[in-house]
Parts: sequence; structure tokens; C-alpha cells
Amino acid sequence: MQLNLFHPKPSTELAPVPCPAAPAPRRTFASLGEYYQSEQWATKRLFALHRADHRCERCYSKSRHLHVHHVTYDRIYNERPEDLEVLCPKCHEDEKTANIKD
Ligand SMILES: [Zn+2]
Repeated sequence: MQLNLFHPKPSTELAPVPCPAAPAPRRTFASLGEYYQSEQWATKRLFALHRADHRCERCYSKSRHLHVHHVTYDRIYNERPEDLEVLCPKCHEDEKTANIKD
């Protein structure tokens, strides 16, 4: 076995790195509700918020109640970063209204 000098410890001892590009540990959940309660979603949500600097990605307001909106559900449970958009409650509502009109 070759010694890896950059990672001398077995990977199981390393702290998990929240990375949405990493393979998702689970790809199915009993319901969307269960998914939204999961650590997997919490990690993705935090990543999106961090990427957006905790601002709405449309109006750039710093709301304390930001929503992480699904641009598409095509890869639900295994979203790419671009599948998620951080929105303030007003922009999220506008988005929902626009979708109803479509
Ligand atoms: Zn907004």
C-alpha cells in the first residue's frame, strides 16, 4: 500500500467536508418533507446561502428569512449548485406567482 503524505490518516477519521459536488449519500427519500428534514438538504441549503453571501440572488436584500428555491426539480435529492437559488420571501412569492401564470 502506498503512503499518501497529504492524507496520512484513513479518510474515515477526517471530518466530512460539505461539498454539494460530492456524490450524494442518498438519492431517494420517502417524501420531500423527509428530505427537507435531512442533513443532506441542510448542507446543500447552507452551501447555497453561503454562495449567495446570505442575500437574495435577485434583489440582493439581506433578509433574515431567506428561502432556498429549486430552479428545477430534475435532480431532486441530487441537485447541482445551479439548481438552487436563494430568494427573499418577496422574490420567492413573485417566482411562485410567475409559475402559476405560465
Ligand atoms: Zn429578493
